[in-house]
Amino acid sequence: MAGRKKAGVSRHRSRRKRKPPTPEPLIEKGFNEIVEALGIGVLGLSDEELREALIEPVAMVLGASKPSIQALIKRLQRNLSRVYQLIIIYMLEHRDKLSEEQLEFAVAYGDRALLPYIGRLYSEAESRGRDDLVAVLRGVWEKYGKTSPVRCPKCGFRAVDPGLTCRICGYTLSEDEAKRQLGFNDLLVMVASTMPREMIEEMIADGAVYVTMRGVYPLRRARREEPGVVLELTPREKKMLDEYSKGGRNA
Ligand SMILES: [Zn+2]
Repeated sequence: MAGRKKAGVSRHRSRRKRKPPTPEPLIEKGFNEIVEALGIGVLGLSDEELREALIEPVAMVLGASKPSIQALIKRLQRNLSRVYQLIIIYMLEHRDKLSEEQLEFAVAYGDRALLPYIGRLYSEAESRGRDDLVAVLRGVWEKYGKTSPVRCPKCGFRAVDPGLTCRICGYTLSEDEAKRQLGFNDLLVMVASTMPREMIEEMIADGAVYVTMRGVYPLRRARREEPGVVLELTPREKKMLDEYSKGGRNA
């Protein structure tokens, strides 16, 4: 392939615009080789679907001139993780339900690309009893998702939104459940003994706090762009805050 004619370098010749190569004819020509080289024949997609799924990956690695099939395959392999992600996105967009092989492939190679689909992938993995896949999905969420301070008792993701509903499985926690998940009592003791008295008074006056991964804030100081939950304070909790913050309470 090295002996191919090079595209014109001189300014005169390049004035005549060459049409940039398009993915489809290359996919058509090298279909079997590409599918085999990428190992995507096992996914159970039809040839038609594979052709479509390859359009974006091939477009991504296409330069200005038309490569040989071998060169194209090398480029795809050099960008394999992104290539796989694009194929996974295609599968997720075109299939209502994934086969077990497709699900395994998606979870193994999808990484950050799985984030918009993570609730659906969770329910597919969970309904098959694939705790191993659920664990990987949880890891993806912890790494890239809007991590909440409260772990959902049903699915185990730190994905409880400010209204106490889980973004992954849809379960809604009661305030008590959310507080149990957080170890709210201990948290309040710590807050009361370390925070300025002024903020404690704000919490008591607001009657509620905003809890994020970084700490506990009076509701009026909540920075809503930071994922967290709103929790009401019971009279007992207010009293506890008040007493601990005044320093020294014996039991
Ligand atoms: Zn959940």
